[in-house]
Amino acid sequence: MRIGILGDVHSNLEALQTVVRAMRADSVDHWVQVGDIVGYGADPTSCIDLIRELGCTVCMGNHDAAVLDLLDTDYFNTYARAAIEWTRTKLRPSDLDYLRGLPTVVRHTQYTLTHGTLHMPEQFGYVLSKVDAQESMRHQETLMGFVGHSHVPAIYSEREHARPNELEVCYDSEIEASAVGCRRVLMNVGSVGQPRDEDPRAAYALYDTDSGRMAVRRVAYDIATTQKKILAAGLPEVLAKRLSLGV
Ligand code: ZN
Repeated sequence: MRIGILGDVHSNLEALQTVVRAMRADSVDHWVQVGDIVGYGADPTSCIDLIRELGCTVCMGNHDAAVLDLLDTDYFNTYARAAIEWTRTKLRPSDLDYLRGLPTVVRHTQYTLTHGTLHMPEQFGYVLSKVDAQESMRHQETLMGFVGHSHVPAIYSEREHARPNELEVCYDSEIEASAVGCRRVLMNVGSVGQPRDEDPRAAYALYDTDSGRMAVRRVAYDIATTQKKILAAGLPEVLAKRLSLGV
């Protein structure tokens, strides 16, 4: 099985379509999305439609939860909150039903899926460091774990003969690695729709269950069109600007 993992999409249709095209070329046959389909961008409904068409296995992100009023928006900065309020006015009843049906954790036979850390999934903690990864991985029963939320790609690996809590980590915009010889691996898959590692290209991740190969890849997309749509929608200008900087 060739698993393709989509990180935080954030209503960025141009990035999502470009990434899906690249993933099809990479022969993905099982689609996963780590939450935050909506928030920030101007195309929430088209992004939900495409994720549903792909038959993605999806967990709930903090922006999805906030749109549903399941999470207090005081927790968000002004721009994120403005986008959440705007998104609420655009979603159809079927979109709200779909988002409401998303679990905070998915325990698949091949992987564990959550938006933030696994030890407090409903609190959406960030996996930004080895310490965060160690805590999360203690609750991970599968070889592979996929998370998003920070919008920065990273792979944390616990080797089979490692001392307790000893992790190897690779932070890079693009990563090629292997899960062979690992007891557990946690992949932070980066973001499709709003990368924050100073590389504005959309990110996606791959994991091949037969070979154990995994990767984070990047593709350039039409940022100018996404920015025009954000401004035309009356969303905060900073949400358009940050896309060309990858922050
Ligand atoms: Zn996000």
